[in-house]
Amino acid sequence: MPSTGPYSIPGFRPAAVYRMPAQRVTSRKSHANAIIAIVLVAAFVVFAVGAVAAKNRQIKEHEAITKQSKIVYDHAMQISKALGRLASDPNISDPSDSSDSDSVAETVASYKSSIDDYIEGYVSTVNNPYAPSGNSKDIAYDLRFMEYETLRKAQGFFDEFDSIVEHANWSVRLADTRNLETLNSTLGRSPDKWKDTADAAADITAAMKHLAAVEEDLTSVIADLHSREEQASSFDTTIPTQQTVMTASQHVADTLGVAIAYSPDGGASECGVDALQASEAMENSQGFYCTRAGDRTNRDKFYVNTAITSYPDVLSHLYFLATVKHELSHRSILITCGTTDPIIAGDRDEGVTSAYAVLFFGANEQVLNSAVIPVINNPNESQETRDAAAKYLVDDQGKTIARQIHDERKCR
Ligand SMILES: [Zn+2]
Repeated sequence: MPSTGPYSIPGFRPAAVYRMPAQRVTSRKSHANAIIAIVLVAAFVVFAVGAVAAKNRQIKEHEAITKQSKIVYDHAMQISKALGRLASDPNISDPSDSSDSDSVAETVASYKSSIDDYIEGYVSTVNNPYAPSGNSKDIAYDLRFMEYETLRKAQGFFDEFDSIVEHANWSVRLADTRNLETLNSTLGRSPDKWKDTADAAADITAAMKHLAAVEEDLTSVIADLHSREEQASSFDTTIPTQQTVMTASQHVADTLGVAIAYSPDGGASECGVDALQASEAMENSQGFYCTRAGDRTNRDKFYVNTAITSYPDVLSHLYFLATVKHELSHRSILITCGTTDPIIAGDRDEGVTSAYAVLFFGANEQVLNSAVIPVINNPNESQETRDAAAKYLVDDQGKTIARQIHDERKCR
């Protein structure tokens, strides 16, 4: 069967050959399916893992922005609260700046209200700053905007706070300026170094703390001043001689820790009064109290004009003692308000000063007014002179204002 055998072999072969490719095709198909399946599974796994990762990433992003939102919001609120406290602080009003209708407190309040608007805007967008709702990217954008604007307003305020401190003239009013120096060094920190609201909140909070310490110092200075005024008010004399008047005057000045400087130009050169003004003032002025903002040199000193024609006769008159009390009242008002000419006194600062002397230094009202009433009522005097004298008159209005300054520290 060699013929069939070999014949059958080729016959078998093609079948085998035929089957083989068929088998191979089937095998290829099944591989292809497997590969497709694997690819699909892989794609699904990649997709699923990707989706989970994306979901996780979203959750993480949301967690991060939620955390950030809480931090920025809390600091912005801290800044707003600090400004709110400052805006209602009577010690920061600037009593000398009558040209500016906006008080310092109003300026601070306006910075606060701008910051509040940005915070409110943010809160109304995300609903709850501790659990902000919405897309993380949108929240991040809104948060950055709120932070940027809050920071910008906080910087504006901080720059102005510096001048608020300068205006308050604390360096002249305080007995001890250490707390003030600490406050100034905090203010000296440049706000451009603030990276975020956390930096701003830290600096503003520190400044508020130092400010509170300065105000406490001032409160104790004023309490001490009032107790010295009370002691000084008992120094008076009924029998005026040069010796009794000068002794009482010296007692009063000593009690306040103030020196009397007897000077032929009434201290005009030390006070920076120009020559013409000085020559006019020299004719009628018995004494001068002068301080300049930021300069303590003359705070605890007042000048008696020895060039006045009535000198030294004035020394044996009760008017001299009343004048001493008047000059010391200028000083008390300066320490209380940061200026001898507070807004509340209007153009009556001299009359208010005399009223203060009457109420709180026991100065003799009749004696003080006896020097001005005859001038006010003298038709031979020029209107200008009479008006000038009227400003020194002690009256009820002046007393009301003097009481507000003394009792309420109300200066504007
Ligand atoms: Zn005066």
